[in-house]
Amino acid sequence: MALTIGPLIKLIEAFFDLLIPLFMKAIIDLNQYGDPSVIPNQFSQKLGSFIRLFGTWIPDNQSLNDAIIGGTIILVMGVIGFAFTMLTQYIAARTAMNVGTEVRECLYEKIISLSKKDREKFGNGRLMTSLNSDSYQIQQAILFFVRLVVRSPAIILGSLIFSFILDWRIGLAFIALVPTLLIVIFLVLGQSSKKYTSIQEALDDISTKSNDDINGARVIRAFNRQSEETESFGQTTSNYQNKSINVHKINSLINPIVFASTALITILIVFLVRGTLLNDTDAEKVVISSTIIAEMAYLAQIFFAVTQLPPVLLDIIKGGVARKRINQILSLEPSITSGNKINDSFTDGDIIAFKNVYFSYKESSDHYALNDLTFTLKKNQTLGVIGGTGSGKSTIINLVERFYDASKGEVEYKGINVKDYDLSSLRKEIGLVNQKSRLFKGTIKSNFLMANPNISDEEIEIALKQAEAYEFVSKYDDYLNHEVVEGGNNFSGGQRQRLCIARALAKKSELLVFDDSTSALDLLTDKKIREHLKEMKDITKIIISQRVATISDADQIIVLDKGFVVGIGTHEQLLKNCDIYKEIYETQIQKG
Ligand code: ADP
Ligand code: MG
Repeated sequence: MALTIGPLIKLIEAFFDLLIPLFMKAIIDLNQYGDPSVIPNQFSQKLGSFIRLFGTWIPDNQSLNDAIIGGTIILVMGVIGFAFTMLTQYIAARTAMNVGTEVRECLYEKIISLSKKDREKFGNGRLMTSLNSDSYQIQQAILFFVRLVVRSPAIILGSLIFSFILDWRIGLAFIALVPTLLIVIFLVLGQSSKKYTSIQEALDDISTKSNDDINGARVIRAFNRQSEETESFGQTTSNYQNKSINVHKINSLINPIVFASTALITILIVFLVRGTLLNDTDAEKVVISSTIIAEMAYLAQIFFAVTQLPPVLLDIIKGGVARKRINQILSLEPSITSGNKINDSFTDGDIIAFKNVYFSYKESSDHYALNDLTFTLKKNQTLGVIGGTGSGKSTIINLVERFYDASKGEVEYKGINVKDYDLSSLRKEIGLVNQKSRLFKGTIKSNFLMANPNISDEEIEIALKQAEAYEFVSKYDDYLNHEVVEGGNNFSGGQRQRLCIARALAKKSELLVFDDSTSALDLLTDKKIREHLKEMKDITKIIISQRVATISDADQIIVLDKGFVVGIGTHEQLLKNCDIYKEIYETQIQKG
């Protein structure tokens, strides 16, 4: 809607701009001939009579009178044109902002809904650039589209027509000029537009790199790698810089070419009319000079309209690139699709069953992060998982929660393949505490409400006590309303882990998963929390750890090594049968 009204108003405004040179000519001709009906040029005759319609205000000086009235008409047209400009500017800005906001919201919704696997296809850098920069490009494209895409061509075309009518020889010169300029512009922009995709990709790299570096700033400092990282960041930015400079180099060809051609045409006009001026009578000379003045005004209008076009077209080209990039994200078919089974069945049998599960993070790769994993976990039992870093512990959880799907084999939840569940219904029942515990900006209480919207303060208190977090939280004056800054960075690692555990407990889920979530706690606190957990009978638990002590009293323990199961059983069984488990146990006993 605004995309039609905006350009339409611009068309009216362009028409006013086109009339101004004709009025200028009419004023000059009126001054020479005195009576509009004897002016040899038709346009001047009509506009001259129009000026005379407003009567005579200064009786003893007709030509001053005409000049003042004609000037006032030009001024009024200018003011109306200005009002229209403001109006379209407003419409354009509003439309662009609305579209920009909508695009960002759609993108955000999509990105949030993407599975881990799908997000990795684009990378976080790309997603960030699309969310920030690409959506902005689309906004700019619309802004300029409304403002200029109709106006410039209308001015150019109108100027050509009027200049041709005024004097066909000059008109022909203009007609030769304009297509030449347009061809040059299109050739140049055609070259540079090809480069915009790679410029946005360079921007993706910058945002990936800066994201990594900001998040990892402490690690970079700890390893004393500032200078290396700074240098590699410098390379990323200078790659972007070089690509941008290249495009600007190409684009900067346009203006000099337009300038030079316009100057050439001016010389040509002077040359064309020189002969006529020398031979004609005084009266005709005036008509010719007034024509030249008007023609020069049209030439100036063409010039400005032409120089305005490239940046507009560029913005539209960039908008097109941005649109394509955003569409790639929006049109991605999610690789993990939700089933429709609602998780409401009660079972006394197996909560989880893995049947010969293989999983690889890379499609079509036969290097698996998990190989041939088979186990079952009964209701209200505890499963322990132990193994070194990268042995595939967290991968098991990724498959249960369906962040990824198994490459081979089946994963079942309560006897039904996880793929058949409605995703949110499946995940609702799983209380997960990650190794990298994340708290959200807000208050302690708001973090609990996120896990369980109906939770009461008393229930939060119980959860805090179970997670051994009550002691430090109760010391805050504002207690549950204590502030949580972004990422929960105003708490120590151990405090954060305890709050995350409490939050998961507050979710009152059927299945509780602790993925290395007590790693920052001292052994005593770890033990206390485990004792609280043991008291909670009606809950199935998966506890992942690198510490034998944390998992030793589980009903069943899986020992993983580089993606392979090297032992399944109870603590006692494994001590007898599994060398790796025994070795881990002995080294940790000696340390402890
Ligand atoms: P653990 O939790 O035991 O430390 P993980 O289950 O996280 O180990 O990882 C198992 C293996 O899979 C590792 O070799 C790791 O590098 C790889 N891996 C984990 N996550 C991803 C991922 N998102 N993309 C590719 N490889 C991954
Ligand atoms: Mg892990």
